[in-house]
Amino acid sequence: MDLYEYQARDVFEKHGVPVLGGIVARTPEEARAAAERLGGGTVVVKAQVKTGGRGKAGGVKLAHSPEEAAQRAEEILGLDIKGHVVRTLMVAQGAKIAEEYYFSVLLDRAERRYLAMASVEGGMEIEQLAVERPEALARVAVDPLVGIDEAKAQEIVAAAGFAADVAPQVADVIQKLWGVYKNEDATLVEVNPLVRTEDGRIVALDGKVTLDANADFRHPDHAELEDAAAADPLEARAKEADLNYVKLDGSVGIIGNGAGLVMSTLDVVAYAGEAHGGVRPANFLDIGGGASAEVMAAGLDIILSDPQVKAVFVNVFGGITACDAVATGIVKALEILGDHATKPLVVRLDGNNVVEGRRILAEAAHPLVTLADTMDGGADKAAELAHAAA
Ligand code: GDP
Ligand code: MN
Repeated sequence: MDLYEYQARDVFEKHGVPVLGGIVARTPEEARAAAERLGGGTVVVKAQVKTGGRGKAGGVKLAHSPEEAAQRAEEILGLDIKGHVVRTLMVAQGAKIAEEYYFSVLLDRAERRYLAMASVEGGMEIEQLAVERPEALARVAVDPLVGIDEAKAQEIVAAAGFAADVAPQVADVIQKLWGVYKNEDATLVEVNPLVRTEDGRIVALDGKVTLDANADFRHPDHAELEDAAAADPLEARAKEADLNYVKLDGSVGIIGNGAGLVMSTLDVVAYAGEAHGGVRPANFLDIGGGASAEVMAAGLDIILSDPQVKAVFVNVFGGITACDAVATGIVKALEILGDHATKPLVVRLDGNNVVEGRRILAEAAHPLVTLADTMDGGADKAAELAHAAA
């Protein structure tokens, strides 16, 4: 889960990282009030969207009075930044910047460790810098068992070439940012710019934090950081039902058990769809091992609620939950859904007790259900039905 900048600011503050005051505003009036609360001096009005490059897109603007803050807010609200419409602002205390630096620490999956990056040339051109002069961006491997201790922080600061007068301060802030990374179970903490102010302080002026959802159980407080409004409503419902669901753009709904099987089902449907007007999968949905009637009903309900779905392909391999139980689950799910079930369903079962599973579905003879013998055949039929209904 990615945090908004204002949330990252709060998390930084909690871990002792030096930040400036910041107040959330949703209207020009609120921006004016926030600027007043921050002392009436210079503030920065900043778009709160989960994408980078806000500065270049006109989403970060200085204001020298509360009145001007309201005007800047008016200009930024509603702006479309790379497909993200600005609804929220942060009004932050203005900093007098002497120098802009860059620091980040992230998960390096390929190397099975963490990677810290730092540069004394931070700011809005960092991507260009990384490409054109990679040597100006220090990359230092971080051993997960050790983390960024004092020695590692000094190594990073030396590798990036920080001047002697700021090096100790920067090393201290880097250790605090490591504290954020480790204690909040983040997979990314990025500060750009980390600045030296004219009066010699090191301050994090921007923050990008990604939290590892797999560690949510250790952080009950992270739930309130979740942006329910921004999430897809079907994804939110699936999450409530404990289902692994990802919305895609196509028209063939997919239900399977096991992530591997569902992934290959997506491929097979996309391939089959080429012969049927280019229809594509509408979602990823893994109902997991115990495909009970309730879980099947919850999964079908979510998929059938997607107006883009024209046909559904249920592709289940019977294992511990055998095919007869899955078939009974499908029949009961259709009973539970009643009139909500309106789109054709292609079902392919294989594995444990497959003969009995198919018999149960054949006997129920639900008018919406077509049985398929093979995965390819089922994908082809579902694609054909989706195309015909489009
Ligand atoms: P981003 O473009 O989405 O990364 O947004 P940032 O928060 O990094 O802001 C972009 C740029 O605005 C920074 O690189 C700074 O140069 C500038 N900026 C941000 N906050 C302040 C501030 O308090 N004072 C001044 N003078 N400039 C700021
Ligand atoms: Mn930035």
